[in-house]
Amino acid sequence: MSEQHKKAIILTAPSGAGKTSITRFLLANYPQLAFSVSATTRAPRGAEQDGVDYHFMSPAAFETHIKQNDFLEYEMVYEGLYYGTLKSALDHIWAEGKMPILDIDVKGAMAIQKQLGDQALSIFILPPSIEVLKERLAKRNTDSEEKMQMRLDKAAYEISFNNQFNAVVKNEVLNTACEETAALIQEFISK
Ligand code: 5GP
Repeated sequence: MSEQHKKAIILTAPSGAGKTSITRFLLANYPQLAFSVSATTRAPRGAEQDGVDYHFMSPAAFETHIKQNDFLEYEMVYEGLYYGTLKSALDHIWAEGKMPILDIDVKGAMAIQKQLGDQALSIFILPPSIEVLKERLAKRNTDSEEKMQMRLDKAAYEISFNNQFNAVVKNEVLNTACEETAALIQEFISK
């Protein structure tokens, strides 16, 4: 496949902004998109499947991939937990003639955007406000008070980078944010 067909969509946002819901909507409605399966050292949650949601691996296995230069980017997103995009994950999708969609953190998104340049469309999903984000995280009810504050502090920091991306979509109403994101992707695909 020629370089110009090797396009990718990067979705990034602070935790709780709705990026996973938007990614699911896009994958359900655009068969030409395929989810880029990241590697992580965190344990699977709920019904998550190895090779589908993530490539779950030990820290030793992850570090071997780092040494072999197998990652396009990787980060310690949370204390002690690695997440990374394997070059092979994107290559598999391109080999199938599809376009990868990456759901990754803000630092990772900036790193990939730098490497892929015009081949990538990076979209930052903005929560309506820190207050709304706080309500959403509280509703999720999976975090302790301390952990929630950590996520909120991190979110405020990440939001400060929103102008680094190709586009910003504010997720006030999920359906509208999904449609707006889809329109941006359609325009990028047709270029
Ligand atoms: P979770 O543990 O909730 O699945 O993900 C935690 C965070 O890590 C999310 O913001 C997610 O987007 C991000 N993440 C997932 N995969 C990658 C990756 O390959 N690289 C980076 N930098 N972040 C990732």
